Amino acid sequence: MKHQATVVKHTGSHYLLTELPGWDLFPAVLRGRIRLKGSSSTNPVAVGDTVTYETEDGHKPTFEEPAVITGVLPRNNYVIRKSTNLSRQEHIIAANIDMAYIVATLDFPEVKLPFLDRILVTCEVYNVPVTIVLNKMDLYGPEYKAMENTFRSIYESAGYHIIGTSAADGTGIDELRKACDGKINLFSGVSGVGKSSLIKALDPSLELRIGEISDAHLQGKHTTTFYQMYRLATGGFIIDTPGIRGFGLVDLKDEEIALYFPEMLKASENCRFTPCTHTHEPGCAVKAAVENGEISCERYSSYLGMLEETGKYR
Ligand code: GDP
Ligand code: ZN
Repeated sequence: MKHQATVVKHTGSHYLLTELPGWDLFPAVLRGRIRLKGSSSTNPVAVGDTVTYETEDGHKPTFEEPAVITGVLPRNNYVIRKSTNLSRQEHIIAANIDMAYIVATLDFPEVKLPFLDRILVTCEVYNVPVTIVLNKMDLYGPEYKAMENTFRSIYESAGYHIIGTSAADGTGIDELRKACDGKINLFSGVSGVGKSSLIKALDPSLELRIGEISDAHLQGKHTTTFYQMYRLATGGFIIDTPGIRGFGLVDLKDEEIALYFPEMLKASENCRFTPCTHTHEPGCAVKAAVENGEISCERYSSYLGMLEETGKYR
C-alpha cells in the first residue's frame, strides 16, 4: 500500500518522515535510484519533500524495518546550495517552503544591502516567498531611527514585508510566531544576527536541538550536510539553515536579473526596448523610476553590481 509523508530530516541515506501537520516521526530509506528529471542535485530527496513510501506488510516502520521511499512529489519550490562557486553540483537545502525569513540587523553584524538583495533575488528565482526579519530592535537607539526608516522604505517599496523583532526583549515575537503557524518556514541569515536566539524565543524547547546542527557539518567536502525540520510548540514548522554561504549564488543571464527585482520587473513594462538591461538604453522606465525615487538607488545599485558579476562564475 502506498502512503505519503513529508521529510523532516535527512542524514546520509536515512530519513525521518511524518505525515504533516501531525508529528509522528518514523524512519525511512531510499532504495534504488530516484532521479529527478534534469536535476543535478546531490540529494534527490530533501527536507520538506513530500514522498511516497511503502512499508513492510503495512507494519509501522521501525529502524530495523524502515519505510522505503518510492518517489518524490513535484515541489512547489526549493532552495539550493552549491558546493563552490564553480561547482555545478547542487545540494537542495529544503523544499516546499511557505515562507523564508531572512534575519538581518542594523546593529552588529550590520546588514549589507547588496548581499541581502542577492539573497532576495535567489528567493525570487526559486519562487520562495520572503519576509525580512529586522532583529535586535532593542539596540536601536535614536541614532538608528533614520537608518531604520531608510531600510524599511527601501524594502517595503520593493514589496517585501518586514517584521521588527528583538529576541532580547520580545518585540515582534508574537507577530513572528503567528506568521509561522501552520506553515513550513525557513530561517536564514548571516551568523550573529540572532537567528538561534529568535528560534529559541519562538519556542524555548527547541534550543538544545538546534545547537546540535553545527556548521562543522557544512565543512566536509562530501555532502554530509543535513538540514532538519522542527515543530514549533505554538504551531508551524521551521527549517534552520546553518550559515547562508552559497545561498546567494545563482547563474542568471544579464537580461534575467531585473526579472527578480519585483519593482524593476513592474517598471520595465514601460521600457522602450525589450529586453532592456536598464543601463544605457534610451526610454528606460526603470532608470526613470530610479531618478524619480520610485525605485531606490540602493536596490538599483545592487542590480548593477549583480550585472557586473554575471559570467564570473561560468
Ligand atoms: P545566530 O548566529 O544568528 O544564530 O545568532 P545568535 O542567536 O547566536 O546571536 C548572536 C548574538 O547576538 C548573541 O550574543 C545573542 O545574545 C545576541 N542577540 C541575538 N538576538 C538579539 C536581540 O534581539 N537583541 C540583542 N541585544 N542581542 C541579541
Ligand atoms: Zn529599462
